Amino acid sequence: MPELPEVETTRRGIRPLVAGRLVTGLAVRNPRLRLPVPETLGEAIVGERLADVRRRAKYLLLDFPRGSVIVHLGMSGSLQVVAADAPPGPHDHVDLVFGGSALRLRDPRRFGMVVWQPGDALEHPWLAPLGPEPLGERFDGPWLHRATRGLRIPVKQALMDAHRVVGVGNIYASESLFRARIHPLTPAGEIGPRRYARLAQAVRETLEAAIAAGGSTLRDFVGGDGRPGYFQQQYFVYGRDGESCRVCGGTVRRAVCGQRATFWCPHCQPR
Ligand SMILES: [Zn+2]
Repeated sequence: MPELPEVETTRRGIRPLVAGRLVTGLAVRNPRLRLPVPETLGEAIVGERLADVRRRAKYLLLDFPRGSVIVHLGMSGSLQVVAADAPPGPHDHVDLVFGGSALRLRDPRRFGMVVWQPGDALEHPWLAPLGPEPLGERFDGPWLHRATRGLRIPVKQALMDAHRVVGVGNIYASESLFRARIHPLTPAGEIGPRRYARLAQAVRETLEAAIAAGGSTLRDFVGGDGRPGYFQQQYFVYGRDGESCRVCGGTVRRAVCGQRATFWCPHCQPR
């Protein structure tokens, strides 16, 4: 499923191609996504100029003067800028047309969402309660430390809770904890400020490396300009149980934590 790096890669790919351009049409071939595409979407955006493309957590915000189209890619969605007359495939459900080109949503499993939010998109009920952005200024060691006092759940689970920080999925939680040299099953409330400072930095580095690689988790993800966005990254621990640690040569271990597979090196990440 597209994780934060894929969504950010998409944003960076499509933004230069559509921001500032006038929407000349909307084609909704199949409105039955996870929520139905609103019937009034055309009235809201056709004839309007797309001001900017932002991201909040894994939501893309297409900002117009009177509101935003909020897009979530669900399990298998991708956005691509194509020639407006390029024949749509069976899973190409929505086109925002900008003259000769179109921003096309492809979503084979239809878990994606396209909704209209008048006014400020950040006030939408899906977005308002979210924790800080991992690449933003509000997210740092002191924040993680404050947000985990008294918590007995494993730090990995705490890190994957969107109220503390958004967009740290299973892969990136395991990889960040490895980089920070913290055992993933350590109770979150037992970790002190120094280790949380390391962890916040590791989260940033891990996500930035994934963004630089063009996103990593979805085979059929396509970048905004049509290049494939699936680059197999070299993970330190994720998916590597039984293999040798790239740093110390020890054996990578696996356990289930909060119903998710969790990987670590017992030597680099002692309890
Ligand atoms: Zn190791």
